[in-house]
This record gives sequence, C-alpha cells and structure tokens, in this order.
Amino acid sequence: MTAPDQQPGQEQEGDAVDFECRGCASPDVVPVVDIGEQPCADYFPSAETPGPDPRWPLALWLCRDCTLVQLGPVEAQVAEEPLAVESATSRAHAEESVKVILGEHPELGGATVYEFGSPHGGSWLDHLSAAGCRVAGADEQADLVIDVHGIVHEPQYGASLKLRAGRLAPGGLLVMEFHHLLPLFIGNQFDTIRHGHWAYVSLRALRNLAALHGLAVESVRQVDMYGGSLMVMLRHVDDVRPDASVDVIVEDEDAAGIADEVQLGSLQEAAWHAARALHDELVRHQAAGRTVLGYGAPSKAPVLLDLSKVTTDLLPFTVDLAPGKHGRRIPGACLVPIRPVEDLKVARPDVVLILTWDIADEIIAQLEHDGGWGARYLVPLPEPHERGR
Ligand SMILES: [Zn+2]
Repeated sequence: MTAPDQQPGQEQEGDAVDFECRGCASPDVVPVVDIGEQPCADYFPSAETPGPDPRWPLALWLCRDCTLVQLGPVEAQVAEEPLAVESATSRAHAEESVKVILGEHPELGGATVYEFGSPHGGSWLDHLSAAGCRVAGADEQADLVIDVHGIVHEPQYGASLKLRAGRLAPGGLLVMEFHHLLPLFIGNQFDTIRHGHWAYVSLRALRNLAALHGLAVESVRQVDMYGGSLMVMLRHVDDVRPDASVDVIVEDEDAAGIADEVQLGSLQEAAWHAARALHDELVRHQAAGRTVLGYGAPSKAPVLLDLSKVTTDLLPFTVDLAPGKHGRRIPGACLVPIRPVEDLKVARPDVVLILTWDIADEIIAQLEHDGGWGARYLVPLPEPHERGR
C-alpha cells in the first residue's frame, strides 16, 4: 500500500509509479484531476467529534489503454457504514427497470437471476422474484445477472468484471447500471468523486474491458439515477446482436473528450470555480440577512462543502431522512451537523441548499407538499442556481 502522505501529483517526471490500471492492468495510467485530500465520504462522526478527520489524497487517473477513469494509487482506509435510507426515486426506479427488462426480454420471465449488490441499496431482486424469476444458488450460473451501482465499490474493476462474466450462463443477459462519466464531466458533478468509488465509467471503457472477458455490449439506455446513469446490456460475445444505441453514446462521449486527458483535466478548474461560486452565494445570502440550511447528508456532501470552504457559519445544519445520521455531522472541516427533516420545517430558512441535488425535484415536492413556507431552493451544480418550486 502507498503511504497516505504521498500525493499523486508529486511524482517527478520519469519516476516509476507502482500503479496499474484497475481495469486492464496497463501501467500507462496518468493523473488527470486532483480533488485534494478528502475524508472518507461515508464516515459520519458524531456531531461532538471535533476533528480533524483523517484525509487521503483523492484524484482521478486515466488509463491511456482502456480509457477507464479511476481513483489513483493512494487507497483510503474506507470504513463504509451504510446509513442512508433509500430514496423514493431509487425504489421506483428498481420497479420500473424490472418492468422494462422483462418487457423487452419476455424469455427471462422465469429465468434464474443473480444480483451483485450495492451498499447503497437499489436491489431489483424483490421485483424480479415477484415476476417469477428464481434466485440462482451460490455457485450457479444465471440467465440474468444484475449489477446496479455495485461494481464501482470494487477496487479492481477488471477482476470484478471477470467475476460477472463467469456468473453469466451461455445465452444469458448481464445488466449493469452505473453512474456515467459523461454527465459527471458535462454537469461538473465533481462531488460524486469519492473514496470507495474506484471507477468512473464511460461506455467506451466498459466496451474495451468487456472484450477482455469475452463480453460485448448489446444495447444501452440513459437513466436519470444519481445525476445521469447508464443501463448497459451485455452478453457473451457470440450471443450479441448490438443495436445502434451503443455507437450513439460512444460518439457523444468522444465529442465531449472524456477519453482525453487534457479535456478531462478541465474538470478540476470547473470544480473549483463552482465551489468558489457556492461559497460566494452563501456569503451573499448571509450579508442580506437570509438564513440558509441544508437538505441531505449524502456521501457527495463532504467534497462539495470542503472545496467550497463552507462551515457552520454559512450552513448551521443540514437535515436527512435517515435516522442513523441524526446526531452526526458531515465529515471534513465543515463540521455541519445532521438533524431530522422536521427541524428544517420548524426553522423555516429563507434558502434551502439541496446537497442531494440528484433528487432535487423529489425533495422540493416533499417540502412543498403541505404548502411549504416560501423557501428558495439552491442547487449547487453545475454552478449554483435556484430551482423553482
Ligand atoms: Zn486500463
């Protein structure tokens, strides 16, 4: 393991970096975006814990061979303790996805299914079982293999993809859903870069890596989850009949330059620009005498608030639906405590900063359900802006 105090950007030209691509094991992998030293995103200490919290360098690297974007060689000591409650958006998405998959592939109605789970929930298994699918045994291949936001939690993407290929029965369908690198880049979603999410995946990179394990992409659809995700259908290479959706997405990715280290590197300046803008926006509200409180304590919040240099002066507390987070605080220097949603409704702030911006519409609808109190809703990315009720 690399020493925690080693910065990816500090290696001298020509120094050997003992690091191979997490996808294809190529040594030709270079740093492109440096987010600085950051705490673990899912480490929510009790509100009384003074800090400083442990931090590790957080940086994106690009493989010049397979184009996989990934975390660099410094590995944080991630103590993932899932405390979140699943959003209504996520639950509805699981149900709808199963309808779509079984609608398009009626032959899978009574199929065997295996799911590679995610610590964030979002399982499709209950819906698949209700539709007549049978859960495959521990060592059994399955006709339908599902990975919904699971694989990015595995440090070695290539080895994990191989496991999924091995699970897939001949003629079977592998469905992988993951946060897409393209909206991350275009939408300046820098706060989704976090310790414990090892890969930031484009369709081109997945296509390249799938080929190493005898898989090919058959079709793809864009879905709204987490600010923009892809649902990708893969099969063993001899079973695939690719459709036009695949080339359309890869062309969009190429046009945005997300396999280009210089283009990708521009995300760093965009991130710092939005972070400064958020800080300035909160200072303006404070100067005008307007109160600001947060909604949500997602694993995105530590990076956003840290880069924005937001502390309890500007954001006295945030609220979250998850009871497990109450009495804790956001990790990092901000020290922002997390309280129950009811506390926000009692405080009636002039402005609500939505930290879970990917489900902003769900949150606004929830707060406005009984008429609200006339709050303004501030969404931090791609640049801070107000969202109408
Ligand atoms: Zn690679």
